[in-house]
Amino acid sequence: MKQIGVLSLQGGFQRHIDILTRLGASPIGVRHSEELEQCSSLIIPGGESTTIAMIMKRRGLHNQISRRIREGMPVFGTCAGMILLSRHIDGRSEHSFAALDASILRNAYGSQVHSFEAEIDIQDEDMSIPNFPAVFIRAPKIEELGPEVTVLAEFNSAPVLVRQGKVLASSFHPELTDDGRIHEYFMRMTEEK
Ligand code: GLN
Repeated sequence: MKQIGVLSLQGGFQRHIDILTRLGASPIGVRHSEELEQCSSLIIPGGESTTIAMIMKRRGLHNQISRRIREGMPVFGTCAGMILLSRHIDGRSEHSFAALDASILRNAYGSQVHSFEAEIDIQDEDMSIPNFPAVFIRAPKIEELGPEVTVLAEFNSAPVLVRQGKVLASSFHPELTDDGRIHEYFMRMTEEK
């Protein structure tokens, strides 16, 4: 069981599926619990975090994903996905998986019309991704991070790509350009012991 799942309830899931497929993976669109059971890792896409949370809860997926993350399943949350992983969302925690020790503010970079693209440099111990085109759409801003979270990239001095163990999260949309380097990085994460 080495399949990457892409939570496909609402939002930008198709582009994640396309990019993973182009990189040689065979991703599974996760809509129900049975599909999640076939997956060993999961991408939670951007979209509307409150809507995604509501559908997950209705289908029993919220508890199931929460348990799988606690058991060590690698997970990558982008934008709304990052919101759902963060411990404190606008000071609250009702929809949160509490998998990332972060406090974030939703829509802190402005509304849809204030969407923008910026080049960022990504750096981890053993990898470097220079000049990644990061697309920000109603993006959340990380206000506070716990000591176990590593910042892999910043924009205007704020963290925008972070990692805590098997949890990767970006406030931008890495699936909206043809650049697959962050997805490749996540695919390597899923192979790590
Ligand atoms: N602002 C959205 C939310 O709160 C996230 C935006 C996005 O995923 N592009 O869920």
